[in-house]
Amino acid sequence: MPYQYLLFDADNTLFDFSEASHLAFAQLLRAEGHDYHETHYATYQAGNELVWREFERGLIDARELRVKRFRLFFERSGLGGDPAVYHQQYMDNLIRATELLSGTLPLLEKLYGRVRMAIITNGLREAQRPRIRKLGLDRYFDHIIVSDEIGSAKPDPAFFDYTFAQLQQPDPERVLVIGDSLSSDIQGGLNYGLDTCWFNPQGKPNEGPVQPRYEVRSIERVWDIVRGAEEEG
Ligand SMILES: [Mg+2]
Repeated sequence: MPYQYLLFDADNTLFDFSEASHLAFAQLLRAEGHDYHETHYATYQAGNELVWREFERGLIDARELRVKRFRLFFERSGLGGDPAVYHQQYMDNLIRATELLSGTLPLLEKLYGRVRMAIITNGLREAQRPRIRKLGLDRYFDHIIVSDEIGSAKPDPAFFDYTFAQLQQPDPERVLVIGDSLSSDIQGGLNYGLDTCWFNPQGKPNEGPVQPRYEVRSIERVWDIVRGAEEEG
């Protein structure tokens, strides 16, 4: 095997985030007695992205992030509620709604025992750990690194310093990063001098500066790359 260690992103790489989050948010609003409209989710998402950017730039901490995204939502939507309560309910709903993506288990079953694997995920501990456990993913992975627990996030090299220390310093030339995000997963791998594989199920164009070594539309094609049978690009 050319690769000794595979570092997988979790959200929208191993399990569904986009649909689960949407569903979790709609359930939350209805349970709190509001009429749910699609514009509400768009409003929440805009604020959520803003607070994650602030978090990644070190402007707010994870405690603030948890409540600020709902505070912003209330300000912008005109609806009212307790941000801490909304955060907790959203988490419960998200954990319940999250499912594996279709190719994940077949791929992990093939890889398991042949190559070492870790999860590297940007997220909150109370969202990431229970979903990974619920979906039975922990048995496949030697290490699970959650940004909230270590105080740095992909693409920051500090996140990869921590990861490499946990993995006992594998040869960087034999480590492959796999994820759906060009700005966190692929950029993070490139910053650290690692090979990268962009999971791009929708075939989105990429004309930007962040160029992965490999690109796959189906996660199961990672198997071909790992066996060294895959052409590049
Ligand atoms: Mg992702």
